[in-house]
Amino acid sequence: MERNTRQRGAIRRAFQRADRPLSTQEVLDQARDEVGGLGIATVYRNIRALVDESWLTAVELPGEVPRYEVHGKAHHHHFHCRHCDRVFEVPGCVSSIAEIVPPGFRLEAHEVVLYGACPDCGTA
Ligand SMILES: [Zn+2]
Ligand SMILES: [Zn+2]
Repeated sequence: MERNTRQRGAIRRAFQRADRPLSTQEVLDQARDEVGGLGIATVYRNIRALVDESWLTAVELPGEVPRYEVHGKAHHHHFHCRHCDRVFEVPGCVSSIAEIVPPGFRLEAHEVVLYGACPDCGTA
């Protein structure tokens, strides 16, 4: 019981520290430092429970393993670094997006994913 609480706490802190969407493997890598012997199945189980509790939300990018982020953030998009495979949060939106909607169509939702190199990977 106490061990479960410690595992859950370490997983939550991994998300709070990262402040970007994390894959199950990334959570494992980070939370393992805090809770030795943590396994991928335990991380999966806890992430599922945190999604059920609406503490986490799944971030689904085309062709990618799911990432998860803390639920309830304001409208935003994601940047996928093609070099280190990390996903980052892009605050805000493209204000002109409604302008490309053809006449007669009603826009209800949109997905925008940015791809490139993060500051750590750079271009040099
Ligand atoms: Zn990168
Ligand atoms: Zn948007």
